[in-house]
Amino acid sequence: MEAIRIHEFGEPGVMNLESCPDLQAGHGQILVDLQAAGVNPVDTYIRAGTYAMKPDLPFTPGMDGAGTVAAVGDDTAHVSVGDRVYLAGTLTGTYASQALCSANQVHPLPENVSYAQGAGVYVPYATAWRGLFQRASGRAGETVLVHGASGGVGIAAVQLARAAGMTVIGTAGSERGAALVSEQGAHHVVDHHEADYTDQILNLTGGRGVDVIMEMLANVNLDRDLNMLAFGGRVVVIGNRGVIEINPRDAMARDASILGMVLLLAPEEDLAAIHAGLYAGLENGTLNPVVGKELPLAEAAQSHVAVMEPGAYGKIVLLP
Ligand code: NAP
Repeated sequence: MEAIRIHEFGEPGVMNLESCPDLQAGHGQILVDLQAAGVNPVDTYIRAGTYAMKPDLPFTPGMDGAGTVAAVGDDTAHVSVGDRVYLAGTLTGTYASQALCSANQVHPLPENVSYAQGAGVYVPYATAWRGLFQRASGRAGETVLVHGASGGVGIAAVQLARAAGMTVIGTAGSERGAALVSEQGAHHVVDHHEADYTDQILNLTGGRGVDVIMEMLANVNLDRDLNMLAFGGRVVVIGNRGVIEINPRDAMARDASILGMVLLLAPEEDLAAIHAGLYAGLENGTLNPVVGKELPLAEAAQSHVAVMEPGAYGKIVLLP
């Protein structure tokens, strides 16, 4: 098999494609032949060695992937050899042609969803679902601001919120990204680089404010988020890359809640509910992952540069 291996934490160039011995499914494990791996910002933090969770070196990066079941260890009856699956983490990493998984990491991929799309399901859609429904308790009839809607989590949040009967305002930083957010179901799109964009968002709600904010860059936006909330509003901190000063009074005055989340800490029963909901949405077409860029696995280093650049457009996917 082929896999990207990281022997030391550092810049994207520490990722190189290597030939490795084929993997074998042990007791309770599932072996998956990967057709695609999804690239997430968290992969870059782990590669750099700056994330809270540091794998032992050397390792193969990647949490998102999709492919077919190649072998099933005993005790793991919910999938069979040949089944199309998407992965929710692995034991061995997804930037590879094979991955070993535990049973709860392997989920059926509906026929109408491509492998490249399947590699963009777990981290983006499970994060968006958890933030929107399990943390913020978003409801039909409410208004949600997807603050950073053009990337992986943002597009997922737009599709989920739209399907759930919410009014969706999305932000993007490029014209191309804005067009995508609109195509994917946002009722309104605003450019988060425009000086008066918070006024634009308040105007879209008739001055009332939004009920839920899905925040992709809290260290830049949390202060102004509080001022865009309706009474009883909730901000879900999904992405954050630094510190920010806020005025707590802005939360007090609105009965507002600031809710943190890390998908990797979600309890198993919550994740089971998320995967059931995602399967239904993928199967009925309300969820439709957008693959903006496909690169060969050997170009993993370029994918890590690209995922941190402005002008997000759905998912970046690696093909082994
Ligand atoms: P992504 O695909 O790279 O997208 C990043 C998004 O942030 C784009 O929509 C981008 O818009 C937007 N953005 C850039 N500048 C912004 C600003 N000033 N205000 C608002 N939005 C801005 O990343 P992703 O996969 O969607 O993840 C988003 C963030 O959530 C990342 O920081 C990631 O690490 C984090 N995350 C956290 C969890 C968790 O469990 N808490 C799970 C998944 C992801 P433009 O490029 O169009 O400007």
